[in-house]
Amino acid sequence: MHFDHSEKAFAQASELMPGGVNSPVRAFQSVGGTPLFIDHAQGDKVMDIDGNTFIDYVCSWGPGILGHAHPQVIQAVQKACSQGLTFGAPTQKESELAQLVQQAYPAVEKLRLVSSGTEACMSAIRAARGYTHRDYIIKCIGCYHGHSDGLLVKAGSGLLTQAVANSDGVPEGYTKTTLLAPYNDEKAIQQLFERYPHQIAALIIEPVAANMGVVPPKPGYLQFLRKITQSYDTVLIFDEVITGFRLALGGASQYYGIQPDMATFGKIIGGGMPLAAYGGKKEIMDVIAPIGSVYQAGTLSGNPIATTAGIETLKILMADPDIYERIDQKAKQLAQAYRKKSYTVNQVGSLMSVFFTNQEVVDYQSAKTSDTQAFANYFHTLLDHGIYVAPSQFEAMFISDAHDQKDIQKTIQIIQEYV
Ligand SMILES: *Cc1c(COP(=O)(O)O)cnc(C)c1O
Repeated sequence: MHFDHSEKAFAQASELMPGGVNSPVRAFQSVGGTPLFIDHAQGDKVMDIDGNTFIDYVCSWGPGILGHAHPQVIQAVQKACSQGLTFGAPTQKESELAQLVQQAYPAVEKLRLVSSGTEACMSAIRAARGYTHRDYIIKCIGCYHGHSDGLLVKAGSGLLTQAVANSDGVPEGYTKTTLLAPYNDEKAIQQLFERYPHQIAALIIEPVAANMGVVPPKPGYLQFLRKITQSYDTVLIFDEVITGFRLALGGASQYYGIQPDMATFGKIIGGGMPLAAYGGKKEIMDVIAPIGSVYQAGTLSGNPIATTAGIETLKILMADPDIYERIDQKAKQLAQAYRKKSYTVNQVGSLMSVFFTNQEVVDYQSAKTSDTQAFANYFHTLLDHGIYVAPSQFEAMFISDAHDQKDIQKTIQIIQEYV
């Protein structure tokens, strides 16, 4: 397989953009080689500018639950485009999308549309702080909630719970109010609440972690979080940017039967366009301007084209609820093929990760035991055989409704033969 055109395009892009990309993981840094420059995509396939075709398990990092270029979504977007790209004034489409989200996700009584998951999480936390008049938040080590300053943190040396910035350019003051706990560790959370009983505004979590590879919550963990946040009057925020509309229509909340106070959405909710949302209990959301005193705004928020793509995608999912069973089954087939090779596989619905370790992966520390060089070799083996997975150990593999049995079987065969 040749990548000459991508190599040339990457060299040019590298002169123009830091690392040649507009989001770091796209640069293939942890696996080496040249990122594929995509020409177009259809269904479960992406085609690069060298004319190579790949079965795509990246799915744009999550939005592509229906596969690429679904005709119904494309047609609706084309029609919307012809009516104007942005107005900066309300449209009925925004209410239509809000209603669909509310219907799918009952914990969301009111919501705000924004343009990225980063914005959604940042704004949800601001609302929770405004509502509770408290400053601290808890996040779990290894969970990702976008790149706003207070969330770009890692555990400091010494005290496990004290966060320090994991990026330059983030002043200490921004991370001082972020408390950290390992994922799936109830005791660590308990200790934080005992230490700061009246200061914790929100606990934000990926109900299924999918940014350290896929790590499911241990049985009872989410129930525990629900209970302890309730008893300390702390806002429980489920970051459903990946899991929302993916594990079930009602996301991880429906999948595990737990209602958070707030939730954030991104990826699928925009149907492939830049759109995200945050929402929750009415009394919390009503602290947001213009009726409340917590400021949050956006020139392109609720953009009519992005909103159209979101509406159309959610409508397709709602009209065909069996889709969740179908994508789960396909993921199970793939997971089984990997397990036969005795890798550690975490799979929840259509989210999945293969870890190159013998350990069970339950948190960031155990995820880090994976042999990332073995992952890099595996990645390039798959790529050379026409299969595109995320170029990082610590990202999920996404299965869409467009993956057909022929391509699933082809993938399984390549796993059996070459991995
Ligand atoms: C992708 C992601 C985000 C950030 O969304 P962007 O649209 O990339 O800003 C936040 N939370 C989770 C769980 C994500 O996977």
